[in-house]
Amino acid sequence: MKILVVGGGGREHALVWKLRESARVAKLWCAPGNGGIAAEAECVAVDAGDVHGLLALAERIQPDFTVVGPEVPLVNGLTDAFRSRGWAIVGPSQLAAQLEGSKIFSKEFLLRHQIPTARMFGAFDSAAGALRALTSVPWPLVIKADGLCAGKGVCLAANAAEARDFIEKAMLRNEFGAGGHRILLEETLEGDELSFILVTDGQRYAPLVPTRDHKRVFDGNLGPNTGGMGAYSTDDLLSEAMRRTILSSIVEPTLQGLAADGIPYQGFLYVGLMLTADGPKVLEFNCRLGDPETQAIAARMDFDLAEVLADVAIGRLDPSKLKWKPGASVCVVLASGGYPGKFATGKTIEGLTGVNNITGVKVLHAGTQLQDHSVVTSGGRVLGVTAVGSSLGVALRSCYDAAHKIHFEGVHYRQDIGAHARPPLAAMR
Ligand code: AMP
Repeated sequence: MKILVVGGGGREHALVWKLRESARVAKLWCAPGNGGIAAEAECVAVDAGDVHGLLALAERIQPDFTVVGPEVPLVNGLTDAFRSRGWAIVGPSQLAAQLEGSKIFSKEFLLRHQIPTARMFGAFDSAAGALRALTSVPWPLVIKADGLCAGKGVCLAANAAEARDFIEKAMLRNEFGAGGHRILLEETLEGDELSFILVTDGQRYAPLVPTRDHKRVFDGNLGPNTGGMGAYSTDDLLSEAMRRTILSSIVEPTLQGLAADGIPYQGFLYVGLMLTADGPKVLEFNCRLGDPETQAIAARMDFDLAEVLADVAIGRLDPSKLKWKPGASVCVVLASGGYPGKFATGKTIEGLTGVNNITGVKVLHAGTQLQDHSVVTSGGRVLGVTAVGSSLGVALRSCYDAAHKIHFEGVHYRQDIGAHARPPLAAMR
């Protein structure tokens, strides 16, 4: 098989790593890839959001199928353009990607199909309307910009002053671009969060192993939000009873609702959940795999990813093929100094040689590039040091052993990924 992977972060390196392990794979390309992916696939300098560039690339290289990592090309209609040419691709259509691309579309979908989610207090396309609504909502309040805002589009407002500030930033000062022109007000949910990701061919689906990510930059969940500073996966993140509830009250009604609405969904679907005292409720959908959750998920894969994705691409997913390593996995993100604020790039990364030989460890690259003969930093999240082990403790030890050997100026990472692992409280009920 010849496969094109679209994207250039840690998630795409994880996909390339597992695809490369398949005996069926003869050729892998990655657009644009990064400094680590370059060792395992041919990187082509086409931006992941550039639909025309990707069409021209696929025309030239003719992959058997394409796998899309990030949301932007999906929301931009990449899969529709490929399918209209008869080219196989894994990823939802532009319309289905609206589950992530528009929080209002997604909320209306959830309400229409009676899928548990936070109550909505209104959707607004003017600041005046949204500000007026603030007089009759409970606090704290969640405010969401409708469109893609690179992780900045959600505000947990404790009071009206904070809410007003966010609404003005989004709707009057245009700080989030077009993504902020409409907003949604909703109820604040309390509980533990859980990422539940599945793959579907439109008919059948298979859940991936459960993961939990760590969004705050500092230990103890302090500091600003980031794209994700780490993730871990263990089976006991989720009790069997909770897993069944999630499947029957959320996953299946979602897939049936999409089919009933005439929106076939093929690809990965990420369901962000809050496990509340009233049961699991949907916080958000993403139309793709999470980053860094994918790194932890990939580490536990015990199946031929190329074969499974080829099946998804032609509508023949066999869920029984997805087998998982028992135990646990973890991914710790090594970030540039200053991230998630301003950071410098071009710092030489030392200590990479040999770390992949530590049992169970794989260093996945996110913001790196090759410069002459060395690997240098080129982004905020630089590396995802990933490890699998017979237990979370074993995986954590290997992972931090490896992380401590790697150095670049300004490097920082959380020391407490997976440290508070316990089954979610709501899962015990
Ligand atoms: P989203 O992009 O919708 O997942 O929102 C980002 C983060 O905001 C989530 O991971 C939650 O931590 C938080 N969040 C979103 N919606 C709610 C809500 N209704 N109640 C509490 N927290 C929320």
